[in-house]
Amino acid sequence: MSNNESLAARAQRAAQIAQKPELYKVCEGCESIVVRDAATCPNCHGYRFDTESERVRSQAEILGKRLPTSIPPSELH
Ligand SMILES: [Zn+2]
Repeated sequence: MSNNESLAARAQRAAQIAQKPELYKVCEGCESIVVRDAATCPNCHGYRFDTESERVRSQAEILGKRLPTSIPPSELH
């Protein structure tokens, strides 16, 4: 559970996902990419997923390029 993942690491992971989209699926709730085996989304606990390879691949690309959107702990009060 690290929010400090570097952009380079994200891009690298995104590339790995894009190469094997059949191992992953996209959460319909929060658009996270989770492993195909997961019963529920570890992020939002959703249970609806899009398993289409094209969707996984394009979502991986988006996530790989996007800057982290989570709020850093220093901004929480
Ligand atoms: Zn989710």
